[in-house]
Amino acid sequence: MRRRIVAGNWKMNKDHVEGAALARDIAAGLAARPSSCEVVLIPPFTSLPAVREAIRGSAAKAGAQDISAEDEGAFTGEISGRMLRALGCEYVLVGHSERRHIIGEGGALLARKLRAALRSGLSPVYCVGELLGERESGAAEEVVSRQIREGCEGLSPAEFSRVVLAYEPVWAIGTGRTATPKDASDMHGAIRRLIGDLLGAEAAAEVPVLYGGSVKPESAAGLLADREIDGLLVGGASLAADSFLAIVPR
Ligand code: PEP
Repeated sequence: MRRRIVAGNWKMNKDHVEGAALARDIAAGLAARPSSCEVVLIPPFTSLPAVREAIRGSAAKAGAQDISAEDEGAFTGEISGRMLRALGCEYVLVGHSERRHIIGEGGALLARKLRAALRSGLSPVYCVGELLGERESGAAEEVVSRQIREGCEGLSPAEFSRVVLAYEPVWAIGTGRTATPKDASDMHGAIRRLIGDLLGAEAAAEVPVLYGGSVKPESAAGLLADREIDGLLVGGASLAADSFLAIVPR
Protein backbone atom coordinates (compact mmCIF):
# COMPACT_ATOMS: atom_id res chain seq x y z
CA MET A 1 0.00 0.00 0.00
CA ARG A 2 1.44 3.36 -1.05
CA ARG A 3 1.14 6.38 1.23
CA ARG A 4 -1.73 8.67 0.21
CA ILE A 5 -1.24 12.36 0.83
CA VAL A 6 -3.29 15.51 0.37
CA ALA A 7 -1.17 18.64 0.78
CA GLY A 8 -2.21 22.28 0.76
CA ASN A 9 0.32 24.74 -0.66
CA TRP A 10 -0.64 28.17 0.64
CA LYS A 11 2.00 29.91 -1.51
CA MET A 12 2.56 33.55 -0.40
CA ASN A 13 -0.83 33.82 1.30
CA LYS A 14 -1.89 34.08 4.97
CA ASP A 15 0.17 35.84 7.62
CA HIS A 16 0.83 33.94 10.84
CA VAL A 17 -2.42 35.03 12.51
CA GLU A 18 -4.56 34.13 9.47
CA GLY A 19 -2.57 30.93 9.00
CA ALA A 20 -3.12 29.80 12.60
CA ALA A 21 -6.87 30.36 12.23
CA LEU A 22 -7.01 28.37 8.99
CA ALA A 23 -4.91 25.56 10.46
CA ARG A 24 -7.14 25.40 13.56
CA ASP A 25 -10.24 25.10 11.37
CA ILE A 26 -8.65 22.34 9.29
CA ALA A 27 -7.50 20.48 12.42
CA ALA A 28 -11.01 20.70 13.87
CA GLY A 29 -12.48 19.40 10.61
CA LEU A 30 -10.09 16.45 10.58
CA ALA A 31 -10.92 15.64 14.20
CA ALA A 32 -14.61 15.49 13.30
CA ARG A 33 -14.02 13.51 10.11
CA PRO A 34 -10.72 11.60 10.07
CA SER A 35 -9.06 10.90 6.70
CA SER A 36 -7.33 7.82 5.36
CA CYS A 37 -4.77 10.19 3.78
CA GLU A 38 -1.91 12.08 5.35
CA VAL A 39 -2.86 15.76 5.39
CA VAL A 40 -0.03 18.27 5.07
CA LEU A 41 -0.28 22.05 5.45
CA ILE A 42 2.41 24.02 3.62
CA PRO A 43 2.28 27.67 4.74
CA PRO A 44 4.85 30.42 4.19
CA PHE A 45 7.94 30.13 6.43
CA THR A 46 6.76 32.93 8.72
CA SER A 47 3.55 31.08 9.56
CA LEU A 48 5.16 27.72 10.31
CA PRO A 49 5.50 28.11 14.13
CA ALA A 50 1.89 29.32 14.50
CA VAL A 51 0.57 26.61 12.18
CA ARG A 52 2.51 23.92 14.00
CA GLU A 53 1.05 25.12 17.30
CA ALA A 54 -2.46 25.17 15.81
CA ILE A 55 -2.24 21.57 14.54
CA ARG A 56 -0.50 20.13 17.60
CA GLY A 57 -2.22 16.87 18.57
CA SER A 58 -4.16 16.71 15.29
CA ALA A 59 -3.68 14.43 12.30
CA ALA A 60 -2.33 17.27 10.14
CA LYS A 61 1.38 17.62 9.42
CA ALA A 62 3.45 20.63 8.43
CA GLY A 63 5.59 21.22 5.38
CA ALA A 64 7.65 24.10 3.97
CA GLN A 65 7.57 25.63 0.50
CA ASP A 66 11.31 25.77 -0.08
CA ILE A 67 14.67 24.81 1.41
CA SER A 68 18.24 25.98 1.00
CA ALA A 69 20.60 23.68 -0.86
CA GLU A 70 23.13 24.48 1.88
CA ASP A 71 23.11 23.24 5.46
CA GLU A 72 24.46 26.31 7.30
CA GLY A 73 26.48 29.47 6.90
CA ALA A 74 26.70 32.75 5.02
CA PHE A 75 23.65 32.41 2.79
CA THR A 76 21.58 35.50 3.53
CA GLY A 77 17.86 34.93 3.34
CA GLU A 78 18.06 31.16 3.10
CA ILE A 79 16.35 28.65 5.42
CA SER A 80 18.04 25.31 6.11
CA GLY A 81 16.53 21.87 6.40
CA ARG A 82 17.65 21.66 10.03
CA MET A 83 15.74 24.85 10.82
CA LEU A 84 12.63 23.40 9.20
CA ARG A 85 12.97 20.14 11.13
CA ALA A 86 13.40 22.12 14.36
CA LEU A 87 10.02 23.72 13.62
CA GLY A 88 8.44 20.29 13.25
CA CYS A 89 8.25 20.18 9.45
CA GLU A 90 8.12 16.75 7.88
CA TYR A 91 7.81 17.73 4.21
CA VAL A 92 9.26 20.36 1.90
CA LEU A 93 8.35 21.28 -1.67
CA VAL A 94 11.24 21.16 -4.13
CA GLY A 95 10.90 22.31 -7.73
CA HIS A 96 7.43 23.82 -7.56
CA SER A 97 6.70 25.31 -10.99
CA GLU A 98 6.60 28.83 -9.58
CA ARG A 99 10.16 28.39 -8.35
CA ARG A 100 11.25 26.81 -11.64
CA HIS A 101 9.57 29.30 -13.97
CA ILE A 102 9.13 32.54 -12.00
CA ILE A 103 12.13 32.48 -9.64
CA GLY A 104 14.26 30.66 -12.25
CA GLU A 105 15.53 27.65 -10.29
CA GLY A 106 17.16 25.06 -12.56
CA GLY A 107 17.60 21.31 -12.40
CA ALA A 108 21.07 21.31 -10.82
CA LEU A 109 20.02 23.58 -7.95
CA LEU A 110 16.83 21.58 -7.39
CA ALA A 111 18.79 18.33 -7.22
CA ARG A 112 20.93 19.89 -4.48
CA LYS A 113 17.85 21.11 -2.62
CA LEU A 114 16.31 17.63 -2.81
CA ARG A 115 19.46 16.14 -1.31
CA ALA A 116 19.58 18.84 1.40
CA ALA A 117 16.02 17.87 2.35
CA LEU A 118 17.00 14.21 2.62
CA ARG A 119 20.14 15.03 4.66
CA SER A 120 18.07 16.89 7.19
CA GLY A 121 15.44 14.16 7.54
CA LEU A 122 12.66 15.86 5.56
CA SER A 123 10.55 14.23 2.87
CA PRO A 124 10.96 16.26 -0.31
CA VAL A 125 7.83 16.63 -2.44
CA TYR A 126 9.59 16.91 -5.79
CA CYS A 127 7.37 18.71 -8.32
CA VAL A 128 7.59 18.18 -12.06
CA GLY A 129 5.45 19.26 -14.98
CA GLU A 130 5.41 20.58 -18.50
CA LEU A 131 4.45 23.99 -19.92
CA LEU A 132 1.42 24.32 -22.19
CA GLY A 133 3.57 24.63 -25.32
CA GLU A 134 5.49 21.51 -24.35
CA ARG A 135 2.26 19.54 -24.00
CA GLU A 136 0.91 20.87 -27.27
CA SER A 137 4.10 19.95 -29.11
CA GLY A 138 4.01 16.41 -27.71
CA ALA A 139 7.07 16.92 -25.46
CA ALA A 140 5.32 16.59 -22.08
CA GLU A 141 6.68 13.15 -21.20
CA GLU A 142 10.20 14.05 -22.33
CA VAL A 143 10.20 17.21 -20.14
CA VAL A 144 8.87 15.40 -17.09
CA SER A 145 11.37 12.54 -17.59
CA ARG A 146 14.23 15.02 -17.75
CA GLN A 147 13.08 16.70 -14.53
CA ILE A 148 12.75 13.34 -12.76
CA ARG A 149 16.23 12.28 -13.90
CA GLU A 150 17.74 15.61 -12.79
CA GLY A 151 16.26 15.24 -9.31
CA CYS A 152 16.26 11.54 -8.59
CA GLU A 153 18.97 9.77 -10.59
CA GLY A 154 21.72 8.47 -8.32
CA LEU A 155 19.70 8.45 -5.10
CA SER A 156 20.05 5.29 -3.02
CA PRO A 157 16.90 3.19 -2.42
CA ALA A 158 16.90 4.34 1.21
CA GLU A 159 17.08 7.99 0.18
CA PHE A 160 14.42 7.61 -2.50
CA SER A 161 12.06 5.90 -0.07
CA ARG A 162 11.47 9.33 1.53
CA VAL A 163 10.78 11.13 -1.75
CA VAL A 164 7.24 12.04 -2.81
CA LEU A 165 6.66 13.04 -6.44
CA ALA A 166 4.07 15.55 -7.61
CA TYR A 167 3.03 15.84 -11.25
CA GLU A 168 1.80 19.38 -11.78
CA PRO A 169 1.29 20.40 -15.40
CA VAL A 170 2.21 24.09 -15.39
CA TRP A 171 -0.76 25.00 -17.60
CA ALA A 172 -3.10 23.67 -14.90
CA ILE A 173 -1.64 25.54 -11.92
CA GLY A 174 -3.80 28.45 -10.80
CA THR A 175 -5.56 28.56 -14.17
CA GLY A 176 -8.77 26.70 -13.39
CA ARG A 177 -7.84 24.06 -16.00
CA THR A 178 -7.39 20.59 -14.50
CA ALA A 179 -5.78 17.71 -16.35
CA THR A 180 -8.31 14.97 -16.96
CA PRO A 181 -7.90 11.94 -14.68
CA LYS A 182 -6.79 10.04 -17.83
CA ASP A 183 -4.07 12.60 -18.75
CA ALA A 184 -2.83 12.65 -15.16
CA SER A 185 -3.00 8.88 -14.89
CA ASP A 186 -1.05 8.39 -18.14
CA MET A 187 1.72 10.71 -16.94
CA HIS A 188 1.80 9.10 -13.49
CA GLY A 189 2.20 5.72 -15.19
CA ALA A 190 5.07 7.07 -17.29
CA ILE A 191 6.73 8.51 -14.17
CA ARG A 192 6.42 5.18 -12.37
CA ARG A 193 7.95 3.32 -15.34
CA LEU A 194 10.86 5.77 -15.39
CA ILE A 195 11.43 5.34 -11.64
CA GLY A 196 11.44 1.59 -12.24
CA ASP A 197 14.19 2.01 -14.86
CA LEU A 198 16.23 4.39 -12.69
CA LEU A 199 15.79 2.96 -9.22
CA GLY A 200 14.15 -0.45 -9.49
CA ALA A 201 10.74 -2.08 -9.24
CA GLU A 202 10.34 -1.66 -5.48
CA ALA A 203 11.02 2.10 -5.65
CA ALA A 204 8.51 2.41 -8.51
CA ALA A 205 5.84 0.47 -6.66
CA GLU A 206 6.21 2.43 -3.45
CA VAL A 207 6.74 6.07 -4.42
CA PRO A 208 3.61 8.19 -3.90
CA VAL A 209 2.85 10.30 -7.00
CA LEU A 210 0.52 13.23 -6.31
CA TYR A 211 -1.37 15.29 -8.87
CA GLY A 212 -1.58 19.09 -8.67
CA GLY A 213 -3.17 21.76 -10.85
CA SER A 214 -6.44 23.60 -10.07
CA VAL A 215 -7.80 20.73 -7.96
CA LYS A 216 -11.21 21.67 -6.56
CA PRO A 217 -13.76 19.80 -4.43
CA GLU A 218 -15.63 18.94 -7.67
CA SER A 219 -12.58 17.35 -9.35
CA ALA A 220 -10.80 15.75 -6.39
CA ALA A 221 -12.75 12.50 -6.06
CA GLY A 222 -12.45 11.70 -9.77
CA LEU A 223 -8.69 12.17 -9.65
CA LEU A 224 -8.25 10.19 -6.43
CA ALA A 225 -10.30 7.30 -7.82
CA ASP A 226 -7.52 6.59 -10.33
CA ARG A 227 -5.15 3.92 -9.03
CA GLU A 228 -2.11 5.81 -10.37
CA ILE A 229 -2.95 8.98 -8.41
CA ASP A 230 -1.82 8.67 -4.80
CA GLY A 231 -2.87 12.08 -3.61
CA LEU A 232 -3.21 15.75 -4.41
CA LEU A 233 -1.18 18.93 -4.12
CA VAL A 234 -3.70 21.75 -3.78
CA GLY A 235 -3.02 25.48 -4.13
CA GLY A 236 -5.94 27.91 -4.30
CA ALA A 237 -8.54 25.55 -2.86
CA SER A 238 -6.39 24.95 0.24
CA LEU A 239 -6.80 28.57 1.37
CA ALA A 240 -10.25 27.99 2.91
CA ALA A 241 -10.95 25.21 5.40
CA ASP A 242 -14.26 24.18 3.85
CA SER A 243 -12.92 23.73 0.30
CA PHE A 244 -9.74 22.01 1.50
CA LEU A 245 -11.66 19.64 3.78
CA ALA A 246 -14.07 18.86 0.93
CA ILE A 247 -11.04 17.69 -1.09
CA VAL A 248 -9.55 15.52 1.68
CA PRO A 249 -11.15 12.05 1.39
CA ARG A 250 -12.45 10.08 4.34
C1 PEP B 1 0.09 24.38 -6.51
O1 PEP B 1 0.36 25.46 -5.99
O2 PEP B 1 0.87 23.45 -6.42
C2 PEP B 1 -1.18 24.27 -7.24
C3 PEP B 1 -1.47 23.13 -7.80
O3 PEP B 1 -1.99 25.39 -7.26
P1 PEP B 1 -3.55 25.43 -7.76
O4 PEP B 1 -4.26 24.30 -7.06
O5 PEP B 1 -4.03 26.77 -7.32
O6 PEP B 1 -3.53 25.24 -9.23
